Amino acid sequence: MASIDTYDFANKKVLIRVDFNVPLDKNDLRVTDDTRIKAAKKTIDHILEAGGSVILMTHLGRPKSKDDQQFSIKHIIEHTSKVLGRKVQFVDDCISEKSFEMSANLGKGEILMLENLRFYPEETKGDRVFAEKLAKHGDVYVNDAFGTAHRAHASTAIIADFFPEAKMFGFLIEAEIKSVDKVLNSTEKPLTAIVGGAKVSSKITIIEKLMDKVDYLIVGGGMAFTFVKAMGGKVGSSLVEDDYLETAKSILGKAKEKGVEIYIPVDAIIADKFDNDANRQEVDITKIPDGWMGLDVGTQTRKDCSAILEKSKLILWNGPMGVFEMPNFAGGTRVVAEKIADATANGAFSLIGGGDSVAAINQFNLSDKVSYVSTGGGAMLEYLEGLELPGIAAIRK
Ligand code: AMP
Repeated sequence: MASIDTYDFANKKVLIRVDFNVPLDKNDLRVTDDTRIKAAKKTIDHILEAGGSVILMTHLGRPKSKDDQQFSIKHIIEHTSKVLGRKVQFVDDCISEKSFEMSANLGKGEILMLENLRFYPEETKGDRVFAEKLAKHGDVYVNDAFGTAHRAHASTAIIADFFPEAKMFGFLIEAEIKSVDKVLNSTEKPLTAIVGGAKVSSKITIIEKLMDKVDYLIVGGGMAFTFVKAMGGKVGSSLVEDDYLETAKSILGKAKEKGVEIYIPVDAIIADKFDNDANRQEVDITKIPDGWMGLDVGTQTRKDCSAILEKSKLILWNGPMGVFEMPNFAGGTRVVAEKIADATANGAFSLIGGGDSVAAINQFNLSDKVSYVSTGGGAMLEYLEGLELPGIAAIRK
């Protein structure tokens, strides 16, 4: 397998699959969070400084067709250029004759960005012919899109076949793999996982997998209420997945068997509607009145989580503790973020993964106070679950 560290990029056209699937403002289509663009800078700089030219390809959102122009890459060109500190050329189709001409004529140190890959349904279908066309843009293929590494799409996996000798990971994927491996393989203890967010159903596999690894498992966010209800608590109109009550019970049982301390919140900040300005009160999480819903964890839960995090040596955080997007319900998530930062300052290794915990850690300006912030939520979870990611396997094979 080739390595980005040692490969000679001089005079090479380097086709990089990045993950610039960034959020855009609904009204003026400005980039509202450029974490993913910043994360690819190191790879791009390295290749350009080594004398190569760069062709960037990414998807953006979930367009149905080319007509969904709100998903055009043209909206992110200016911002990308600003982040990279370099001019970025743009072509309005990723496999047109014009696009091939532009990549062929690209000079040393220059950057061309292709139009949204998902304007072609062939991308997500993993179409071979489409992948082969994309491959014409470069002499070398670099995959630095960790966020889509769990998808067997044309540009993330299939395309690698057309670069048998010249395919490699970018620095971002390398770093992602290294930090997840550190959590999975380190023998340091205690290892604490905080799994929050909306639903048990989307996190169930990872919870079961983590059960074999972790010492403490903190359950937060909306999914905690399914556990509370499963244990016989009254959760009012909080988010609950009734189909998962048995699953929640079985997780609690397994935790006991395996000696994992599973922590379910004991109190909650409840609201009379799903609104930042709703009426609020703090109650025992098992006694939520009808018509009220839990939107954040309460004071005692914050204290308990802090105590666990203080003694943790490895920390994995996926999913917020509450509806952190609303300032009045962001407190629990903030405390967890701050305590992870404190533990990191005291020598713990902390990995933050999953779109919403990343958004939260950024919102609290703590992203540089933790060990690693993963850019790929779903991909990181699947890698943690021990699955082989197609984007990673395609480079390694
Ligand atoms: P996920 O993508 O599954 O990690 O879920 C993240 C989302 O869960 C965020 O948008 C939060 O606002 C939401 N969330 C967290 N806690 C709650 C809660 N108690 N009730 C409803 N939604 C929640």
